[in-house]
Parts: sequence; structure tokens; C-alpha cells
Amino acid sequence: MAPGLRQHHLLGISELTREEIELIFHRAEAYLPYCRSAQHRLPDLRGKTVVLAFFEPSTRTRVSFELAARRLSADVVSFQAAASSLAKGESLFDTVQTLEAMGIDALVIRHRASGVPWLLRRFLACSIINAGDGQHEHPTQALLDGFTLWKYFGRLQGLRVCIVGDVLHSRVARSNIALLRLSGAEVAVCGPATLLPQNAEQVWGVRVFWNLREAVKWADVLNVLRLQRERMESGLVASSEEYHRFFGITEQVVTWNPAVRILHPGPVNYGVELVPEVALGANSHIRQQVPHGVAIRMAVLSLLLGGG
Ligand code: ASP
Repeated sequence: MAPGLRQHHLLGISELTREEIELIFHRAEAYLPYCRSAQHRLPDLRGKTVVLAFFEPSTRTRVSFELAARRLSADVVSFQAAASSLAKGESLFDTVQTLEAMGIDALVIRHRASGVPWLLRRFLACSIINAGDGQHEHPTQALLDGFTLWKYFGRLQGLRVCIVGDVLHSRVARSNIALLRLSGAEVAVCGPATLLPQNAEQVWGVRVFWNLREAVKWADVLNVLRLQRERMESGLVASSEEYHRFFGITEQVVTWNPAVRILHPGPVNYGVELVPEVALGANSHIRQQVPHGVAIRMAVLSLLLGGG
């Protein structure tokens, strides 16, 4: 078992403790100076093999897992779902068992069906890391978002974080809410009623704002989400323009609370949920989230695979 973590998988935030989250943050902080440069490759995962199996599109998450593994000297194999025997009808289960039989240490998996990493855990002995399952969990995104706030504020306890936008279809929202609540933050959601879960207060333990101005005045942080159209039934929002008018984060919105900090997991749809002036402005942490994602994934890999 990996030192410091009770499991050798990372499937969801729901399976971590507050102490484990802090352990990952401290390890990520130690790796931060190494995450930008290939010149100082650390030996921590030498001799380990990490397979990236992304069955859904990804830019940031896939590249940052790959960089993280390489920075720690692991061998990395990127499995191309479209070019594999899956296209010949092989099942997901046979595919991952074949991969495991080749002697891998970790499988980083993204899949459009919620729950796939939990299903695989029952059959595979290698470490499984969930890189996003349907609209369910995206634990390393929540860890890097939390880490970004922890670095800036020095704490998560007592912070007021409002998640704005399409919360209903977002795995980022679910994992963030779990991590922030576990860490003692106050969490709210804000968006059109059609994009918020029913009974969010009771079921998720969050505050609900229907009005963006009230949410912005309340919050220390806005975590802004994209409309997840690939998972959305049609008709939940009238149009992107109308969504932007009521819930888009613009320079004027920031004037309601000039201290408010802005996060976004990417990819951003500019002009819909966020304008470039705010994304690139003084309140934004979006640029820092990217290297923090590499450092967090280095920390997760090394803690799960016993390096460092
Ligand atoms: N990149 C994040 C995810 O994979 C957020 C998004 O796609 O909007 O869930």
C-alpha cells in the first residue's frame, strides 16, 4: 500500500480523507518547481509504467498526466481508443485486461460512462486513476482547483466558493463540492434552474443562488463552468447569448466584488460563460491552474505508486 494513502487507486474525492487531500497538496507543492522543465527529471517512478486510456476527448488532463508521469521518469503509453481493437468490437473489459497483462502499474482512464473506474477496480490489480467518468467525478481537477486556492489563500477552511454554470452535467462540480466541503469551505452553486440539480441544498449540502449578483457578492471565489452540451438534453438553455446575459462572467460582474478570484477548468467557451478580459485579468487563476494540474498529477502518481 502506498505510504500515506489508504488505497492504491484514486477513483473519487468521496474516497479521500481531509488528511489525504492535504498530503497530496504538500507533495504537489514540493513538485511544483520540477513540473515546468524536462531538464530536471526526477527518478521517483523509474521502472513504472503508466497507461493513459482516454475514451473521451481531452487536452489538459491527458497532456498533464503524460507530463507528470514523464517528469517522474515513468514509462508512458498513450492508448488510442479510436485506433484500437475497440473499433473491431472488443469490449472495454477485454481491452483493459489485455493492457494490464502487459505489466502496467497504473491505468489513467477517462470514459463517458459514470462509474467505469469503480467497475474496473473489481477486476484489475494495477492502480486505477479516474481522469473523468461521465458527469460523475473528476478528482484530479478538484485537487488542482483546491490546490490553487490553498496556495493563494493559505487555507480552504471557511472559504466561500460558488460554482457558476452547468452544475447538473459537470463532474468537475461534483468533485469540487466534495473536496471543498470535506476541507471546511462553504460552497454555493449559481445558474439557471434547468442546470442545477434538484434539491441541491439537501442533497449536496450547498447554498443555491438564482441571481448572479448575489452570488458574486457572497463569494471569495467563482469556479466558472462551461455548458456541457455533449451531456445536455436540448432546450435546457434558450441560447448561448441568453445564458451569457444572465450568467456570463464579464468585467462588469467583477466590479460587484473586485476581490473575487476566478477559476475555470477549461476548455473555456469565450463570450458564453466567461469573457477573455476576465480570463486573462488580475482576478483570474486560470493560467496557474495548468502547471498546478501537472504538479497535482505528479503527486497523485507518486503517492499511489510508492515513489518520492
Ligand atoms: N475539462 C473538464 C472535464 O473534463 C471540464 C469540461 O470539459 O468542461 O470535465
